[in-house]
Amino acid sequence: MDYSIARRRMVEQQIKARGIDDQRVIDAMLTIPRHLFVEAGLQSHAYGDASLPIGEKQTISQPYMVAAMTAALELQGDERILEIGTGSGYQTAILSKLVKRVYSIERIAVLAGRARKILDQLQLSNINIKIGDGTVGWKDQAPFSGILVAAGSPDVPQKYLDQLDIGGKLVLPVGDREEQILIRIIRKNENHFERQQLMGCRFVPLIGEQGW
Ligand code: SAH
Repeated sequence: MDYSIARRRMVEQQIKARGIDDQRVIDAMLTIPRHLFVEAGLQSHAYGDASLPIGEKQTISQPYMVAAMTAALELQGDERILEIGTGSGYQTAILSKLVKRVYSIERIAVLAGRARKILDQLQLSNINIKIGDGTVGWKDQAPFSGILVAAGSPDVPQKYLDQLDIGGKLVLPVGDREEQILIRIIRKNENHFERQQLMGCRFVPLIGEQGW
């Protein structure tokens, strides 16, 4: 099955039509085969306008949400990015096309393993995946020029602010277990963080020491 037409349609109708105009993000979404990140029985739905189950009560995020969060980081290409919630690995793959190195943390080992395998098959070699509680960040590799959190948090974990480089951007959903608001925080200097609300969203919960 050739999914390139479905992928192009996804980018036109769900991504560009909704105002994402970062050409590098658009190119990454045209390139990465999203259907490989879902189970065989769901592949024909992979380019639809929705999140999909990936097992373990988790989901692969809606394509538009992946694009919007990625675009919000305003990536140039030389960044080191921390991603929390590897899940299927799809968002990880998109980021890997756009930055120097992606550090991704997933708490569920089977998901991390599955993601690792697909990312290796796609020969995306600038990705480190760690199994563990991502609410504490990844201290050894900090600071990061961007942190993208793909699970809903009750609050902004302090460790993310601590591990953000000056000028770095943190994008994360904050709210209750059902609904959140996507927030972007930019570290202007050592002590000044600028906070913006981007849009409403629905993510699975961020579970851990500084999450739920
Ligand atoms: N970007 C992924 C989203 C997966 S859903 C995708 O599109 O496939 C969110 C993921 O966050 C789930 O896999 C869940 O297990 C993971 N998660 C939740 N809390 C976490 C934590 N504290 N640390 C690491 N991963 C976490």
